[in-house]
Amino acid sequence: MGFSTKAVHSGIEADPSTGSLMTPIHLTSTYLQSEIGKHKGYVYSRVANPTRTVLEKSIASLENGKEGLAFASGMAAETAVFHLLKAGDHAVISRNVYGGTFRVAKFVLENFSLHFDFVDSTDIGVLKDAVRAETRMVFVESPTNPTMEITDLRAVAKLCKARKLISVVDNTFATPYLQNPLDFGIDIVLHSATKYLNGHSDMLGGLVVLNDPKLTERLRFIQKSVGGILSPFEAWMCLRGIKTLAVRMARHDANAIEVAAFLNTNRKVKKVNYPGLASHPQHYLAQKQMRGFGGMISFDLGSFEKAKKLLKSVRLCALAESLGGVETLISHPATMTHAALSPEERQRVGVTDGLVRISVGIEDVEDIIEDLKQALAKV
Ligand SMILES: *Cc1c(COP(=O)(O)O)cnc(C)c1O
Repeated sequence: MGFSTKAVHSGIEADPSTGSLMTPIHLTSTYLQSEIGKHKGYVYSRVANPTRTVLEKSIASLENGKEGLAFASGMAAETAVFHLLKAGDHAVISRNVYGGTFRVAKFVLENFSLHFDFVDSTDIGVLKDAVRAETRMVFVESPTNPTMEITDLRAVAKLCKARKLISVVDNTFATPYLQNPLDFGIDIVLHSATKYLNGHSDMLGGLVVLNDPKLTERLRFIQKSVGGILSPFEAWMCLRGIKTLAVRMARHDANAIEVAAFLNTNRKVKKVNYPGLASHPQHYLAQKQMRGFGGMISFDLGSFEKAKKLLKSVRLCALAESLGGVETLISHPATMTHAALSPEERQRVGVTDGLVRISVGIEDVEDIIEDLKQALAKV
């Protein structure tokens, strides 16, 4: 079955009691049992809820995995995955991950005697060298936020298999439309469903997909024990969004290619980070493991003042955190998504004061470029 067909149909069946073609929102905390121990697979909605189950099946199918799990946010999903570790364990993480991943690892989980190293995962040698006796997990993001670095996911899977480490990929930027990490042998793929999967900037959610039955059992246990589950309403919102994922991503991708090309020729722009540009250091790798380059671009204007001026001058592009919605969003990583990093850490990962990130929407691309053009003229 093709991706677009799966996006519309996977996991979705007409409701057997009414024929309702659209998935009902099951607003219930509990379920009738006909006698002790006899029920229809649902006993309490923290453990499982039929609306959430449909979403979990849908994302599992899109990621070519066996099981999906839905959480209240991308961070709740990540935290659940990190709960697979125990005190004393060490994990290696891409140096360039989402700011919230850095924050939860450094300022929450390190208090529980977990240890993290943030390394340049674009260099597999560096990643290999960071693995030590206590290492249990490798967590990478590709493309990374916001500098769009690409990590070789096949190489990560191979390294982790050889060293018996759990491999995790944050696939939020690429979405399953462009990249399926499990196909490369990665153990766990996770998403902030808040972004492209829902796609309309009107809910938060997190999704995890995996194949290994033991890991799945453990993560399901963590999900019901810690309880950071997705509500039935948000699960329904996300399911609704996923149905148009393929058409939205095709448009995000096509628009971003044109916006990146425009930025690349503008003399006010010092550098454009977009894996679809031939000048991107991992352009070839991106072509090898992705089916397109996505809708995220970052570019450097050279100074904080210039970035500030541009962000004040845009009219169509909305200055806001987040990404992956149908509308074009523009942001300043150093003061917004990556404010949790110290100036030194930001410098190290390339989040400069002049860096601007754009989540290219599905509007007419001429309008997006026109807006950027007039704002750049004021810089
Ligand atoms: C937004 C985001 C997250 C966190 O997800 P929330 O839904 O905001 O909790 C994690 N990873 C990436 C790459 C993100 O963009």
